[in-house]
Order: sequence, then structure tokens, then C-alpha cells
Amino acid sequence: MIPSVHLRPGFVQPVWAGHPWVFAQAIARTTGTPAPGDEVSVVDPEGKTLGRGFWSPESAIPVRLLTRDAGVTLDAAFLQARIDEAARWRKALLGLPSPSSTGYRLVNADGDGLPGLTVDVFGDAASVQFGTIGMKRRADVILDAVTRAAGVTRVYEVGSERHQQREGFTVAEGIVRGEGAPTLSFTEGGVRFSVAAPGSAGGGQKTGYYFDQRENRAAVASLASGARVLDAFSYVGGFGLAAAKAGAREVVCVDSSASALAAGQRIAEDNGLADRVAYKKGDVRDVLGELGRAGERFDVVVIDPPKLAHSAREVEKAMANYRRLNAGAAQLVRDGGVLVTCSCSGSVTADTFLRAVALGARDMNRAAQVIAVRGAAGDPPSMAAFPEGRYLKCVIARLA
Ligand code: SAH
Repeated sequence: MIPSVHLRPGFVQPVWAGHPWVFAQAIARTTGTPAPGDEVSVVDPEGKTLGRGFWSPESAIPVRLLTRDAGVTLDAAFLQARIDEAARWRKALLGLPSPSSTGYRLVNADGDGLPGLTVDVFGDAASVQFGTIGMKRRADVILDAVTRAAGVTRVYEVGSERHQQREGFTVAEGIVRGEGAPTLSFTEGGVRFSVAAPGSAGGGQKTGYYFDQRENRAAVASLASGARVLDAFSYVGGFGLAAAKAGAREVVCVDSSASALAAGQRIAEDNGLADRVAYKKGDVRDVLGELGRAGERFDVVVIDPPKLAHSAREVEKAMANYRRLNAGAAQLVRDGGVLVTCSCSGSVTADTFLRAVALGARDMNRAAQVIAVRGAAGDPPSMAAFPEGRYLKCVIARLA
């Protein structure tokens, strides 16, 4: 018998309906004495098994379910099969990887039935992030399975301080399978990218690149022929480079990170796009105003700020910030031009975000005519019962 975690009455429904998280306050008691990372079974007040996960005693979410099947053991074969399945359906349904897009998210934690595990693939390399002590303890099996499923020759481990503190383990970022190299190279929409490998000097942000925006970049590319484009919060310029590749006349990328801009500049050169893509260092909150006062106008303005609300409590403050940013961006869009505005704050719903966009446009005496409300690409999938997985909004609006 594996140790079991018994839920309190009144806390069962969301878990039963498919939400993978068991919060600490939902737990009445545990039977057996699970060690950190041990497999546990989650049981309702009637004694019926709801599923199985790994035990994270220090976390506010002590169990995330990996299976609903009481008869399944979370052993090496189980983890390997889940990782293989993630690779198989991405190929079958999304065509990933393809010759023009060799970078993608292979495992998206809860969205792939593997809570606590995030894997990105960059051509012949992968980066792995362990988000729970249970996954970390099984690193060897997972790293081997990822190497095989993704067909890569090297794997890096990346860390997140938040996870490490919460779960009680440490990560030395760097190469864990194969021979290290200083960069990760991949293609997206036919553009060849190269970003710093984890643990190397000037290492990339998060897991190196934001694959969740791939399809939104393609949507921007489809609007970009002959256009003058501003890519604000550009990181290495994913949106701007896609636009330039699709025939944009001029692209300006703005970010506050010098290493992101330097990497972007090299990518533009490697792709023969440097004559049309400029990288500008600055705080977007200031730069939007400066460009506006200088009378600059663009056919397409993209803004993709970092997360502005980290919890429901921060939504109101974030709304004010989204409104201000969208006003600054709206001002720069020529009459009849397009605003592409993103939010990756999970606590801000699409409707709430659209309200901030409308108000920001209004502040500049503009009206936003929404052409599309988009989300993340399919390779970070989210479970229907797990709204936290649908954090990304990308609104495309024509500004009259
Ligand atoms: N659009 C990018 C991803 C953006 S992530 C892509 O498609 O890949 C958010 C970016 O905002 C990061 O690169 C970060 O360096 C930058 N950033 C955060 N705060 C900023 C600020 N106030 N001004 C300019 N850039 C900022």
C-alpha cells in the first residue's frame, strides 16, 4: 500500500472534475509517512481513490495528480510513456518539429499530464525544468526519456528559484546529458535563431525562448508585408524577425535586456535581416512616450510585456498598467493600423484584458476594433479543467 492523502469533505469537486492540484487546505490527513517526492494516492472522504501524484510536503500544493487511474503506478515506464505520448501527438496534430520550426515545447507540465515537468526542444538540444521534488527525484529516468523522445544529443537543466524554495531542492543550471555548447540553435517560421544555453554567460530568460507565441508571430507576419513594425518587449525579437522575414519594410525592437538585444542583433545578421531590423535598448514605458512625442507612427505595434499580475490580488494594479501601456502603444499606431497586444498574466481574464485595451485606446481618442483574440500555440496545451494553464492572451485590433 502506498501512503494516501485524504481530502476534506467539500474539497473534492474540482479535483474530481479534472483539476490536477490538491491544495494543502483540502487535505484532512495522510496515512503512512510519505517522504518528499514519494508516490501517494489521493482519496475522497468516502475512501474512493481520485488519482495518484508525488508528495511535496513543503508546497502549498502538496500533490499534483499524474493519473486518475487507481491501478496505475507512477514508475519509470509510466513517465517514459507520457513523454513519448507528448512527442507523438505534437508530431501528428501540430506537425512539430518541422523543417521550418525545430523549436517547441515538448512537455507542458499539467497540460501534458506531467505536472512538475517542463521541457523545451531547441533543434538538437532540450532544456528541462523540474518543478516538484517528485520529478526532480526521477531526473535520471526523465532525462533519458526526453533525450530519446525528442531525438536530441544534449540536454540542459534549468532552474527556477521559486520552485526550488517551495519544493526544497537546488539546481546547478547547465548540461546534464551530452556535450555542452554555449548556444541553442533552432528555426521558427524559417528564421534561424540562436540563444545562450542555460548556465552559460548571458544565459537566456526562462527556458531560452517563448515558444507559446509562435502562432501569434505567424499572425503578425501575415500582416507585415511592406509595414513599419514596432516590437515592444521584444526579447530577441521573435515578432519583429517574423515580420521582417515576411517582408516588413522596417522593424524596431525595444527591450530593457542588453543580452537579449545583442542576441537579437546577431540573429538578424545571421538571417540577412539586419538592414531592416533595429534593436533599441530602453524601458518600454518611457520609449512609447518618447516615440509618440517624436511623431513616430507604425503600421503594426506589438506589445508583449512580462507578467504584470502574479495573483488575483494584483489584478487591479495590473489593469492600470495594461491600460497605460496600451494607451502608449495605441498612440503609435497609424490610422487604420494594427495593435497586437499580449498579456501573460493568468489572473487577468481575456475580458478583463480587453477592457484595459479598450480604455487605453480610448485614452488616446482611438477605438480598438478587435480582429482576433488569440491564445498560446498548441504545444503548450492546457487541460480544459485547468484554467491556470490558459494564461496567454493576444489581441489583434485595428485602430480607427
Ligand atoms: N515578445 C518576446 C517575449 C517578451 S518577454 C518574444 O516574442 O519572444 C518580456 C520581455 O520584456 C523580456 O525580454 C524582458 O527583458 C522585457 N522587459 C521587461 N520589462 C521591461 C521594460 N520595462 N522595458 C523594456 N523591456 C522590458
